[in-house]
Amino acid sequence: MSQNGSVLIIGAGIAGMKAALMLAGASRKVHLVERLPIIGGKVIKNEESFPNMECSTCMVAPVQQAVLQNPDIETYTYSTVDRIDGGPGCFSAVIRKKARYISLVDCIGCGMCFDPCPVSLANEWEEGLMPRKAVYVPCSGSLPNVPVIDASSCLHLSGKQECSLCAESCAFEAVNLDDSDQVIEIEVGSVIIATGADTFDLSALPNLGYGILPSVYSPFEFERLFASNGPTQGEITLRGSGTVPRRIAIVHCIGRTEAGYCSSVCCMYSFKFVRFLRHKLPEAEVFNIHLDVCTPGKSYQSFFTSLDDRDTTMLFTPSIDDVRVTENGPSLTLSYPAPDGNTREIEVDMVILAAAMVPDRGLGEIAQMAGIQLDRHGFVMTVDRESGSLQTSRDGIFVAGTAEGPKDIQNTVIQAESAAGQALEAMSAAAAVNKERASGS
Ligand SMILES: Cc1cc2nc3c(=O)[nH]c(=O)nc-3n(C[C@H](O)[C@H](O)[C@H](O)COP(=O)(O)OP(=O)(O)OC[C@H]3O[C@@H](n4cnc5c(N)ncnc54)[C@H](O)[C@@H]3O)c2cc1C
Ligand code: SF4
Ligand code: SF4
Repeated sequence: MSQNGSVLIIGAGIAGMKAALMLAGASRKVHLVERLPIIGGKVIKNEESFPNMECSTCMVAPVQQAVLQNPDIETYTYSTVDRIDGGPGCFSAVIRKKARYISLVDCIGCGMCFDPCPVSLANEWEEGLMPRKAVYVPCSGSLPNVPVIDASSCLHLSGKQECSLCAESCAFEAVNLDDSDQVIEIEVGSVIIATGADTFDLSALPNLGYGILPSVYSPFEFERLFASNGPTQGEITLRGSGTVPRRIAIVHCIGRTEAGYCSSVCCMYSFKFVRFLRHKLPEAEVFNIHLDVCTPGKSYQSFFTSLDDRDTTMLFTPSIDDVRVTENGPSLTLSYPAPDGNTREIEVDMVILAAAMVPDRGLGEIAQMAGIQLDRHGFVMTVDRESGSLQTSRDGIFVAGTAEGPKDIQNTVIQAESAAGQALEAMSAAAAVNKERASGS
């Protein structure tokens, strides 16, 4: 196989998109593969991002647009990579493009097909806080703004009953219920894994009541509750009762003991939530139950110290693992070990659990497919961390962003651009070796 200067990037979050733009800027062809129907990753779940409380959509939308409009970036949404063979400078890869059933060319994103669809189920992207149809876009402001039909819940495609209401309601003939998966083979010189991370599975800790008590929230549920394009249009109301919470507890470091590391972003997003609450519910009382406070770097410390006693009451506990949340009539009782050895209780209406960042639950499968090793925590292992190398255990395959370990947006972007640079360097080195071999020197 001849040397190839193109790059395959798996994952179109902020890491994958930034690496793609940098490589396209260096006149390289990029194949960007995203498993969801939309690009943008987890940052677009946030209304605002710490430390500058910038509007996340305003920050990410131009990046998404630049990716989608760049002729050197081929974006494959609703797709995964099945196989990667070969080595540096001459990989071959197989991309599986799932049937979308809606034409990316003909659809204008008017949404007229949603209402007639008789199916209703929880919208996973919105953390189950609102319903969606079988034909849907994950969120308002999705890019590309073209729906997808979820074949497993569509009545017609799952063979449950005849239905073509979405197709009948589309004036642009953009619905094709006979669409099928496509398998595409590509050749590239380098690969970058940018598949992101997950948050700790809160249902593993029943003492905290997540999944049992409706007023206990995961961090992304709270992000969506605050978001003006989210399930409540940004109104902070409690699941089930619809009432406005007056006393709110944010519990830090959930899953830190199990994970065995500090995720470096949870304290910061917890303090971001304090700011959200101060802005939306100025009368509410907010408590931060914490073990220690991790606000490293130049701007993070001041982000924390700018909060005062009117914003939040900081409650220290030597053991987060012993925090308990129980039902108490319409509200909740949160108990925690206090520094003096006694157990303290506070009564609150809402609990937000600041979950640790953990490896993406699909990462093991990707690692196996790509033939790369994971580190002891289950993130992608780099071979020479101290030198800043983002080379994985397989030559020519690099990693960027939270697939490598927990980090904030800024460090994700820095790492993504570094991975792009290292991929370029590796392809130049492979081409030079190939040329030497060809010339017999
Ligand atoms: C609750 C919370 C709030 C946060 N708030 C902030 C904040 O305010 N400021 C800040 O700086 N940081 C914040 N962060 C951190 C921030 O979310 C991350 O730094 C950022 O999302 C990392 O981007 P990424 O591209 O590495 O991963 P992601 O955003 O997770 O993107 C990865 C992409 O890869 C795709 N993917 C996964 N597997 C596959 C596959 N097999 N094939 C194809 N595609 C795949 C995913 O669908 C996703 O689109 C927060 C984190 C959390 C948990
Ligand atoms: S498929 Fe048709 S009806 Fe549905 S959003 Fe696209 S153009 Fe509108
Ligand atoms: S064909 Fe499927 S997606 Fe379309 S309206 Fe019927 S159930 Fe919904």
